[in-house]
Amino acid sequence: DKGLAVFTSGGDSQGMNAAVRACVRMAIYLGCKVYFIREGYQGMVDGGDCIQEANWASVSSIIHRGGTIIGSARCQDFRERQGRLKAANNLIQKGITNLVVIGGDGSLTGANLFRQEWPSLLDELVKNKTITTEQQDKFNVLHIVGLVGSIDNDFCGTDMTIGTDTALHRIIEAIDAISSTAYSHQRTFIMEVMGRHCGYLAISTAIATEADFMFIPEEPVSVTWKDEICAKLQQERSAGQRLNIVIVAEGAMDREGHPITAEDVKKVIDERLKHDARITVLGHVQRGGNPSAFDRILACRMGAEATLALMEATKESVPVVISLDGNQAVRVPLMECVERTQAVAKAMKEKRWADAVKLRGRS
Ligand code: ATP
Repeated sequence: DKGLAVFTSGGDSQGMNAAVRACVRMAIYLGCKVYFIREGYQGMVDGGDCIQEANWASVSSIIHRGGTIIGSARCQDFRERQGRLKAANNLIQKGITNLVVIGGDGSLTGANLFRQEWPSLLDELVKNKTITTEQQDKFNVLHIVGLVGSIDNDFCGTDMTIGTDTALHRIIEAIDAISSTAYSHQRTFIMEVMGRHCGYLAISTAIATEADFMFIPEEPVSVTWKDEICAKLQQERSAGQRLNIVIVAEGAMDREGHPITAEDVKKVIDERLKHDARITVLGHVQRGGNPSAFDRILACRMGAEATLALMEATKESVPVVISLDGNQAVRVPLMECVERTQAVAKAMKEKRWADAVKLRGRS
């Protein structure tokens, strides 16, 4: 009689559906009652039709679909205790005391807070006569497990987040397409890619597409960057190259912390090199479309492991996030990872770039 619910929260990413499917099917296999919570925490607060029982068939034919079929949202109500009180009541009414949260560090922080507050929320619900003391005794512990869905690969504690590989495929496909037309017309293309304060997508793209120059947040350019990029592009053209590709991560900046945009780069190339330079901002294309084989398999393994971790959780166990470590899906303490991730963001904001890279701990 272990009720388990799965929901997706924060920004979507490809592979979330595969994770939902694996959670649901493993839960059914283990004999649990399993629910979808639609629209993330908003659905948990609103209850009603947003919390629906899932079955084997309800997750059929979703593994190849991008986005999340159960919807995702950002929810202000859940940030307030009153919202979390409503959410707790909605879960108790369905007998749900196990949650798989698929989202970013914010969603996982919210889940951890909810878990910590759970006993006091139940006390308040008993006091208000919303639930009975029998219900309180029966559902007195909330277990949570996190999965990280993000194209940015900016979460500490895992080698890859769900969605990153697909986003990389999408970017590379677009750059390959652009390269062929750039070649014909001897153009320079400046490509802006996502990643927030993390340069993983930009640096991987630059390697995989033979880009000539890149701007990433972790290694801000010096004041001489305009000379450097012009010299490099010129050198490539002199060696017979007919096109140039420049990658600009959305969080790129100089050493003073001023953002460097694709427009800034184009201006320099226009003025100094007089190339035919064009900008392409890939935007949400990077977050859309079918997940890659890697993301489908990663999400399947992580989803199944999340359900297993919940079923094995005890009152004393520390909440975990499922991570990829080498080729293994492993359980790591959720709040340690969240805190490290938030420390990286803080270091980036304070322009302590080397500290951020060290904290992130990935080569
Ligand atoms: P992304 O990486 O896409 O931004 P995220 O999970 O970090 O994903 P957030 O917007 O930070 O996205 O969080 C998603 C939701 O999680 C919020 O809208 C809110 O409902 C809940 N949440 C986040 N932080 C907290 C918190 N400190 N307390 C309670 N709820 C929170």
